[in-house]
Amino acid sequence: MTDEWFEDELPWLGPPPPLPPRREQPQSNPVPPAPPRRPARPRVSASSAAAVASYPLPPRRQRAPQPALPPVPPSAQLPQRGIGEIVALKWLGVLLVLVAGLTALALVLRDFRGPAPATPTPAGQLVIPLAEETGNPLAGQQVVANPAFDGVVICLDAAHGGVDRGYKRMGDAIAPAMDEALYTAAYTRELAGQLTAMGFTVVTTRDGDTVQNAQFQDVNRDGKTRENGSSDAEAAQNALMDEMQARIEFCNDENADLLISIHFDGSSQAEESGFTTWYATGRGDSAESQRLAELIIDELDADLAAGGFVTTNNGAKPDTVAATHGSQMVYDSLFMIVGSRAGMKDSSRMPGVVADLLTISNGTDAQILASETGRSTIVQAMAEAIGRYFTETAALG
Ligand SMILES: [Zn+2]
Repeated sequence: MTDEWFEDELPWLGPPPPLPPRREQPQSNPVPPAPPRRPARPRVSASSAAAVASYPLPPRRQRAPQPALPPVPPSAQLPQRGIGEIVALKWLGVLLVLVAGLTALALVLRDFRGPAPATPTPAGQLVIPLAEETGNPLAGQQVVANPAFDGVVICLDAAHGGVDRGYKRMGDAIAPAMDEALYTAAYTRELAGQLTAMGFTVVTTRDGDTVQNAQFQDVNRDGKTRENGSSDAEAAQNALMDEMQARIEFCNDENADLLISIHFDGSSQAEESGFTTWYATGRGDSAESQRLAELIIDELDADLAAGGFVTTNNGAKPDTVAATHGSQMVYDSLFMIVGSRAGMKDSSRMPGVVADLLTISNGTDAQILASETGRSTIVQAMAEAIGRYFTETAALG
């Protein structure tokens, strides 16, 4: 499946944001030379760190002035001409007046058009309003690239995808049907666009409904694949481990400075709601990961409250909690960021966070997630947290 599927399902996404071209892979020589390491990120001096710290929030874009209507030549000023010429010019004048009138009418209708009438949709189909229908106040913000972020690579992982749909909810009177794989892809694509505009280099483990390990190879070399699982559940688990190992290798190969795996939570308890971030303990970069996990929580908490959204702040949690009290799905999802685990070939080589951005099994949370303003608020909070993380890192260095 390709982007066609993706844009059909999520018309509000529009065309994908322009991501920077992937770095060239080494040519297939018999003995390939080692790929050139990306030069170390330049350290930021104290004065430029201060400038970074005052990184301004993007200003709201002003509404562009409406184009002036074309002037209509008054017929009184027509010079004396032959009767044929006068008739032709008269018709031209009438035509111009007609065009001007229609243009004005179109502009008036565009400005005062109310929300488009809701179209009934078949049960189970994803319904997300178009941006222009909801009048999202955050839409179209201009973001100024920060030179301090130049050369910083962020690996974004839209969790799940392909046959793995993650958590699902049925549509009901409160909120539409949702599946985690679709929403992680949509949120990740928008976050990638935002971060790119801020000056970061963004790479994504998937875009649209694609996966890294589409051929179900034994990426983690544990002898277990989707093909040789003894049950459907085991086959799915084998495929998941290989897919996540492939995504880890992808972020490592891209020499990313940060890995963020985007999920949504789900629960059999309908009242459970809110957002959680996860970081791995026992790694050399655990302090950095924990800091980012906390910054994301702080920004989500502040921005969602400021937007009038009511949900639950479940905090930044260490992987040790997932191992003892979390669900199997949460435990599995941390594979991307932990130091080691059974079946892992290589661990990720950069600080990382798993972010559960609200809980799709909760009706109120699902409403927020499916709304244009909710999505913009959450993506903006994520982008602000990542910006603050690198600003702090630069100030410390
Ligand atoms: Zn998930």
